[in-house]
Amino acid sequence: MEILHVSAECYPMAKAGGLADVVGALPKYQQHLGHIAKVVMPMHRTEFLYDNEWEVVHKGYFSMAHYNFDFTIIREKTNKLHFDLYCVDIHGLLDREKIYGYDDDTERFMAFQIAVTEWLSKWEHHPDVIHVHDHHAALVPFMMQQCFAYRHLARIPTILTIHNAQYQGWMGWDKVTYIPAWDTWKWGLLDWANTINPLACGIKCADKVSTVSPGYMNELMYAANGLENLFNYEKGKCSGILNGIDYSVWDPAIDTYILDNYSISDFEDGKALNKKKLCDDFGFDIQNPLFVFIGRLVNEKAADLLPQAFRIALEKAGGKCSFLVLGSGETAVEQALQQIQHNWIGFYNSQIGYNEKLSHQMYAGADFLLMPSRVEPCGLNQMYAMRYGTVPVVRSIGGLKDTVIDYGGENGYGICFNHASVDDIVYSIGRGRELYNNKITLAKVRKTMMMVNNSWETSARKYIDLYKSIYK
Ligand code: ADP
Repeated sequence: MEILHVSAECYPMAKAGGLADVVGALPKYQQHLGHIAKVVMPMHRTEFLYDNEWEVVHKGYFSMAHYNFDFTIIREKTNKLHFDLYCVDIHGLLDREKIYGYDDDTERFMAFQIAVTEWLSKWEHHPDVIHVHDHHAALVPFMMQQCFAYRHLARIPTILTIHNAQYQGWMGWDKVTYIPAWDTWKWGLLDWANTINPLACGIKCADKVSTVSPGYMNELMYAANGLENLFNYEKGKCSGILNGIDYSVWDPAIDTYILDNYSISDFEDGKALNKKKLCDDFGFDIQNPLFVFIGRLVNEKAADLLPQAFRIALEKAGGKCSFLVLGSGETAVEQALQQIQHNWIGFYNSQIGYNEKLSHQMYAGADFLLMPSRVEPCGLNQMYAMRYGTVPVVRSIGGLKDTVIDYGGENGYGICFNHASVDDIVYSIGRGRELYNNKITLAKVRKTMMMVNNSWETSARKYIDLYKSIYK
C-alpha cells in the first residue's frame, strides 16, 4: 500500500510533542512492513531543514479568499528518515521557526491543507490511503470530498488520527471563504456549535477515526472538550491504537545523547553513571531518589500542581529527595516552578525551554518520572522512562492506564494514582521513596519494565489492518 501522512510535525524535522515522535516513527515501521509510507508537513525553518539536502518536486498555486499563493513541495533527497519526507513551502506563511503560536496559525494551517490537497490533485496516480493527523490536517478529507476542484480525490480512503482532542482548530464562520469552492449546502460537515471545527469535520468526513490509545478512545465518549456527542454518534468508525516507541531513537544501549550506554544486563551501573552526571550538573545529592518531570507546562499535564506538591514532598522528606523539571508552557506555571528553586537549592531545579538532549539524559539518569496528567491521550514519556529503567509515577488515565501497571500488582513496574491532585502526587512520591529504599524490589521493577515490548511493530500492523478495512 502507499500511504501519505499529513501532519504539522515530524521528528526530527520539527517537534513540539508526541505527534512528531509518532509521525517520525510510524511511517518508518510501515516501510519495514513492506509498504510505501510518505509524510508531508509544513516547511518550518528548523535545523533539520538547513542540515539536509532537498529537491523541488512540485510547484503550484492556489487562492485562499482574495489572496493568491505560490507553493513549492520539496523532498529530502537522501531518504535519511527511511521514508520520503515532503515539506510544503509557502513563502511568508509556513517558513517560520516555530511550529505553532502565531496569530495567523488559522491561515497558515488552512493554506498548508489547501496546498497539500492541490498537490495531491496533480499526482499521476493516487495513494491508497491519506492518513491525516490532528486538526491541522483534519480538513483534508473534507476538501477531497466536497471541494469541486478536488472531487476526483473523493474515493481515496482517509483516516484521521487524533493525538489530542483538546485542540480542535476552531475558527469563526467568517473564515469559510478560505476553503476552495465547495457545496455550501454541506455546511453541516464543517460546523460544530456554530463555529467551523476542523477536528469535528475530520471525524465526520474521514472513513476511519483512530486515537492513540484504547483507554483514551473510551474516555472521549464522555470527555472530549465538547465533541462527546459526535464521538458517540460516530463510534462505529472509531478505534484506539496504542502508540509505540521508536527503538532506533529511544534505546539506552545506543542513545548518543546519554553519557553511558546500558541495557538490561548492566542497567544498575549504567543508570548510576547517568544519574551522577545529572546530579553533578544540577548540584543534587546522588544518594537521594531523583524524580523528574518532562513535558508541556499546561493544565492537561497538571503541571500547575507540581510547585505545591514538590514543596510538601520536600518538607516531608526533610530534603531526602531531588526534583528536576524540563518543560515550557503557561507563563504562570513556569514562574511558579522557578520561584521555588531559590528555597530548595541542591534539591530542586527547573529548566524552562525545550531541550531534546537533556530530556534523554533525564530519562536515563532519573529514578522516577512523574506524570500526574489530567488528560493523557497516550503519553510517550512513560514508555521512554520504562525503556530506560526509570519508574513511571502516573495518574491512571487515558494511555497511562493502558501502559503502566502498579508495582503492587502482578508483573507491575510503576506507581499509579487516581486523582490529579497535590495529595495523590505527594503520596505517590512517598511510595517512590519507599521503593527506592528497597533496592531488591527496585531492581526487579526496573528489569520488568525494561523488558516490556512497546515497539511500533505491533501498532504499525494495526494501522495497516485499519487501512485494509477501508481499502476501496
Ligand atoms: P504531548 O501531549 O506533549 O504530545 P507526549 O507524552 O505524547 O506528550 O510526548 C511528549 C514528547 O515531547 C516526548 O518525546 C517528550 O520527551 C518531549 N518533550 C516534551 N517537552 C519537552 C521539552 N521541554 N524538552 C524536550 N523534550 C520534550
